[in-house]
Amino acid sequence: MTVPSVRPSKKERRHIPRTHVPEQDPATRAHNFEEVNLGFTAEMARLEAMRCLECKVPKCVDGCPVGVRIEEFLSLVAEGSYAEAARVIKLDNSLPAVCGRVCPQENQCEGACILAKTGDSVAIGALERFVADFERTNGLSRVEMPAVSTGKRVAVVGSGPAGLAAATDLIKAGHAVTVFEALHELGGVLVYGIPEFRLPKQIVQAEIQALEKMGVEFITNAVVGQTTTIDALFDEGFSAVFLGVGAGLPKFTNVEGENLVGVYSANEFLTRVNLMRAYRPKSDTPIIGVAGKTVAVFGGGNTAMDAVRTAMRLGAARAVILYRRAEEQMPARVEEIAHAKAEGVEFKLLTAPVSFGGTDDGWLRTVELQEMELGEPDESGRRSPVPIEGGIYEMPIDVAVIAVGNNANPLLRRNEPSLGYTRWGTVIADETSGRTSRTGVWAGGDIVSGGATVILAMGAGRRAAADINRYLETGVFEVAAE
Ligand code: FAD
Ligand code: SF4
Repeated sequence: MTVPSVRPSKKERRHIPRTHVPEQDPATRAHNFEEVNLGFTAEMARLEAMRCLECKVPKCVDGCPVGVRIEEFLSLVAEGSYAEAARVIKLDNSLPAVCGRVCPQENQCEGACILAKTGDSVAIGALERFVADFERTNGLSRVEMPAVSTGKRVAVVGSGPAGLAAATDLIKAGHAVTVFEALHELGGVLVYGIPEFRLPKQIVQAEIQALEKMGVEFITNAVVGQTTTIDALFDEGFSAVFLGVGAGLPKFTNVEGENLVGVYSANEFLTRVNLMRAYRPKSDTPIIGVAGKTVAVFGGGNTAMDAVRTAMRLGAARAVILYRRAEEQMPARVEEIAHAKAEGVEFKLLTAPVSFGGTDDGWLRTVELQEMELGEPDESGRRSPVPIEGGIYEMPIDVAVIAVGNNANPLLRRNEPSLGYTRWGTVIADETSGRTSRTGVWAGGDIVSGGATVILAMGAGRRAAADINRYLETGVFEVAAE
């Protein structure tokens, strides 16, 4: 459909079909690490943005955890003002090229869009990505230089979305900001977890470079709680500390045989591929035995989809998702599930591992599986899986990847006893301000909420930054209840 020269009436807009984002062909992309979604062209973007009904009370905005002014940016896209649209998004979201690619829009803005009730919502995520990419690739990103220096120093611990969002708002407020990152690369899960074919690393790097240009200092290989401490940061002259250290400790299923060679946590599997380039033929950290073999991934979230689709790209002959509940209960984004299926991933639903079996010298060979059915709802409200009597069988596998969630890394709890922790090891912090139980220390993102989403981590980083700004002005800090 061609783009009308004049914006159609609201009645006519309802007849414009949703424009789907072009993708690499599934048979081709299942064997490469290039980005799957190719993004809208300018014509596609304008036509899609014209579908917006410009609601007086835009439900889409209520659905966005950081309140992006969606109807305003869509109007600008519809009239072809793409750089201005990017500026409007960035008032509320400093990482639109990331969020446009990885946010679960179907549960957020697009799920709340009024058009979702009668058919297809506006493709808000794809449009967000389009304007952010347009701004970056045309060199139109404006680096907003900080206001007058306040002379105050703030330490941000962790360079994932929570840390990056906090650092952005803190430097804009005129503080000197230093980000301490435990790994040798910056970006947190955006870099070591989410694969290149979903979120190219250069996009995250561009965001980090923009922060560097604004004056943020980044120190890598710096582990707070180990190579330095919160006390040491205050002694060095930092007036406030924000902890955005994520939840990077993998959970396991704890079934027999999980220590066999060939069983990986999803963290290790994805980190080797993403950060240590294990997909390259001469990598120092190869993933042994994937090419031509059967890879079983246990879990139903984004991490499981990323691991199984990575296994396909590493040449697995069979890449299988095994999930103990049903498909409608999978926490993964709908798009990731659809993409995995199109690429040839097999799904074994209502199936749980009982034990892993291996050779005498410790190599994984089989998994014993239990068929499940759905029973009564559990505390999460989802119907819980119940074993079917006698439904046990064995499946030969060569590699298993466990993707059943993450806990908080115990390092902080062990070495920073001045903070309050929950029984799951997450840091206790006030939901709206991010204030912890220690004066001058804030926390946000997965280290507080447990494994969640990029946009929620960013929202927490921004709220904490606002509270830090207030504290540095007033000196008032009310500690979070332990
Ligand atoms: P992180 O991104 O985990 O960043 C924390 C950073 O702190 C890391 O770089 C870590 O190395 C560093 N750090 C840890 N301890 C220390 C220390 N002691 N000192 C210094 N630095 C430290 N969410 C979505 O919205 N959409 C998706 O599609 C999606 N896909 C995902 C796929 C995978 C494989 C995974 C694992 C998660 C995915 N998520 C997704 C969830 C999302 O990535 C996280 O919720 C988000 O990254 C949390 O941000 P964060 O800043 O709190 O933590
Ligand atoms: Fe446009 Fe949907 Fe938002 Fe209404 S709810 S303003 S139609 S995107």
